[in-house]
Amino acid sequence: MLIAGKWIDKKDKIEVKNPYDDSVIDTVPSGTPEDVAAAIEAAEEGYRINRDMPVHERIGILKGAADIVEENAEEFALTIATEGSKTIREARKEVARAVQTMVISAEEARRVVGETIPFDSMPGSENRVGYYFRFPIGIIAAITPFNDPLNLVAHKVGPAIAGGNSVVLKPATVTPLSALKLCRALMDAGLPAKVLNAVTGYGATVGDAIVADPRVRMISFTGGVEAGERIVKKAGLKKIGMELGSNTPVIVCEDCDLDKAVELSVSGAFWAVGQNCIGVQRIYIEKGIYKRFETLFVARTRQLKVGPQLEEDTDMGPMITEGEAKRIERWVNDAVKKGAKILTGGKRKGSLYEPTVLADVPPGSKLDKEEVFAPTVNLYPVGDIDEAIKKANDVNFGLHAGIFTKDIEKAFKAIRELDVGGIIINDSSDYRIDMMPFGGVKNSGLGREGIKFVLQEMTEPRVVCFNL
Ligand code: NAP
Repeated sequence: MLIAGKWIDKKDKIEVKNPYDDSVIDTVPSGTPEDVAAAIEAAEEGYRINRDMPVHERIGILKGAADIVEENAEEFALTIATEGSKTIREARKEVARAVQTMVISAEEARRVVGETIPFDSMPGSENRVGYYFRFPIGIIAAITPFNDPLNLVAHKVGPAIAGGNSVVLKPATVTPLSALKLCRALMDAGLPAKVLNAVTGYGATVGDAIVADPRVRMISFTGGVEAGERIVKKAGLKKIGMELGSNTPVIVCEDCDLDKAVELSVSGAFWAVGQNCIGVQRIYIEKGIYKRFETLFVARTRQLKVGPQLEEDTDMGPMITEGEAKRIERWVNDAVKKGAKILTGGKRKGSLYEPTVLADVPPGSKLDKEEVFAPTVNLYPVGDIDEAIKKANDVNFGLHAGIFTKDIEKAFKAIRELDVGGIIINDSSDYRIDMMPFGGVKNSGLGREGIKFVLQEMTEPRVVCFNL
């Protein structure tokens, strides 16, 4: 791990394993609250260093790190696809996006601007002139999940550095290697020691100690609702950014391009083994095309090849742990007991769980209401778009939604009435670029990521007023 510019190892280690065969690929130190204290102490100085660094130097470092990631793209992809669930082809796409995220962070660094204030608009303030500019907020805690182990780290570290802050990063315990590689790229690109510190270790110890420390000014968290709620309760007076999960809906209307709807929804459901916050979980299909959609969707799903992540022709890898595969097996079995029908899939071998399509999923079951974060998808026939929107909204989440239709009125109805942070028309919910505002309503989160938007959170206005 990286503290005060030094790479630190410890006797007490955590094994990082390939989820396909449980083989140990590396170890990282098991951080302690003392390590967190040292990292935060370093970050206090790191903050002053980055705050005082000219913006053009920050831009150079962020661009330099993006170049290093790009030049070593295959090595980064191999790390993602070995410590995590993604196939090598999926991992390459994540690396390309992480490069973009760093480049956009560099670009946005020069757009952190303020404006003049018309003080003389207030009687009595005639002789005053001034402005506000945006000032970095200080130490930002970045706590990240396993499913995008590189790009979601870039989404926090990139803008935090662009805005002049320092960072204490805690990557997911199961996938810390991609995050550490990104830290190394930033250091190699010239980031001064102490601006970025990374402590590896468990959420309950390392995460907790970071969250509770009053010197941390903002917690930028991406993960599940449960951990998010624990963090909010512990955090005290800090800014909070929460990027949480969802059980994302897609609506398929009778007038849509059916082949496109099937192809893109299958991809959206099973990308990254369904371990994807905007992955398709619930599909509402207008009755007139339900049977055709179901037949085509099941046939396409059966073509997916499940296997080891590094084989070029693997479409879907293992779940992140065998425990997670057993959890979804239990959830599916429970839904089947209550009347759900498995149309394809439903079997587990170690950490591999087949891409699984279900119908007649009972309302209120976990598969229907919770976030599955697994390769399962539910198909529901609906009478019309009103019923689809009502059912899509009848959950505690709201991150993204997709709708397939050629009818502009249906599209606008969905835009108006779906309770979500983003609506994708004629694609599945699983679409994002890294400069757009990204985040959710309800239990899907607080605030927005996307570099320009999170930079508003990671800086604050400072007013300057001259009394002439
Ligand atoms: P998680 O279990 O909530 O963990 C996320 C991070 O929080 C990990 O680094 C974890 O450490 C840490 N953590 C856990 N408990 C903590 C505590 N009490 N204090 C401080 N840190 C704590 O999530 P995950 O299983 O890695 O990721 C899956 C979840 O992330 C899903 O719900 C998914 O939807 C969500 N997600 C959301 C987005 C988005 O942008 N909205 C994107 C991707 C994923 P350990 O690893 O040691 O447990």
